[in-house]
Amino acid sequence: MDEISALGEIDLKAVAGGFGLYVHIPFCTTRCDYCAFATWTDRENMIDDYVKLLCSEIYRARREEYWRNPETVFLGGGTPSLLNVDQVEMILEAAQPSSSAEITIECNPESTTSHFVRGIARLGVNRISLGVQSRKEHVLHGLGRTSHDGALERALDALCSAGIANYNVDLIYGGAGESTQDFVESLVEVLSFERPPTHISAYALTVEAGTPLAKSQDRHPDDDLQAERYEIAQTLLHEYGYGWYEISNWAQQGFACRHNLSCWLGGEYLGVGCAAHSHVAGERSANAFSIDRYMELIGQGKSARAKCERLIGREHNQELLELALRTVVGVPISCIDESVFNDGLMERAGEQAVLTLRGRLLANEVAMRIEAPLEESLR
Ligand code: SF4
Repeated sequence: MDEISALGEIDLKAVAGGFGLYVHIPFCTTRCDYCAFATWTDRENMIDDYVKLLCSEIYRARREEYWRNPETVFLGGGTPSLLNVDQVEMILEAAQPSSSAEITIECNPESTTSHFVRGIARLGVNRISLGVQSRKEHVLHGLGRTSHDGALERALDALCSAGIANYNVDLIYGGAGESTQDFVESLVEVLSFERPPTHISAYALTVEAGTPLAKSQDRHPDDDLQAERYEIAQTLLHEYGYGWYEISNWAQQGFACRHNLSCWLGGEYLGVGCAAHSHVAGERSANAFSIDRYMELIGQGKSARAKCERLIGREHNQELLELALRTVVGVPISCIDESVFNDGLMERAGEQAVLTLRGRLLANEVAMRIEAPLEESLR
């Protein structure tokens, strides 16, 4: 077990019992080659109308029985930093987060201006997630991602002048042309910033169907190299004072993202905007994927929900356990096949079984050894 606790004093019961709001902002200036998210690069003229419709979706949800003032709000995308301060204000005005809420906005360094960050900090935004991916030009190029000289430095200055010290850096490893040295240098550079991030998300590059990367076989990642990079990430992050708390997420003591943690521990959250997913009132649902369809439905005063599933009994328990399995909280020992201990995939932590480093690399295989209880609810 990692002795650095990314969870720190976070009250896990409160987090798992909390209510979060996810707001999807589906606009980007260019599309990265690996990206399969719901985002559009030719619709910036629609941002204002989209935000108004988002807000009406939130106001509508506020009339539902499940609604509570959110303890976490997460604006993700897409590129939420393409919004202006007034638009963020409209969303938070509609959302009415609780006074102690964690409020995160995902930003691309290029659009993280000082004016924007100061403005959103005044509105109560207290956490920023920066999409950096790599510090190496040729690696970004291999990912089909644009970068601008000095953009990250300017974004970090903006965070500093706005007094936002709680920020995440997203990294991706396994891109074409990336050597192990490139990855190590990128990670160390980020960890050595004058004010280092409180949180690091390091994702293995995945090939999503329908993306330009999927068609470009010579840029597909190598599994063994990715496993090696993961182990390097764990070693370096631990050395620099970060503890892992979910397979792809590490944080300084107590700086785990409460919003994501709540989702992984079975908490309730409402997703608004196109393609947003929700878990409320015992159901999992997803909004219409296309921005046009979403705007049409909400504009007509209808629900944007495209799919809905009621999870009960063993199926529900299985899903909850598979999510928790990927976290440092782990799953009850009684719900996992004993063989995971003999195979070095999990270790005991009190009544819980938690993935070892090897287990984290083989988490999908471990998930198949979960034995979810039939009836009893795990929540
Ligand atoms: S910035 Fe993020 S959401 Fe936008 S295209 Fe790139 S990966 Fe996709």
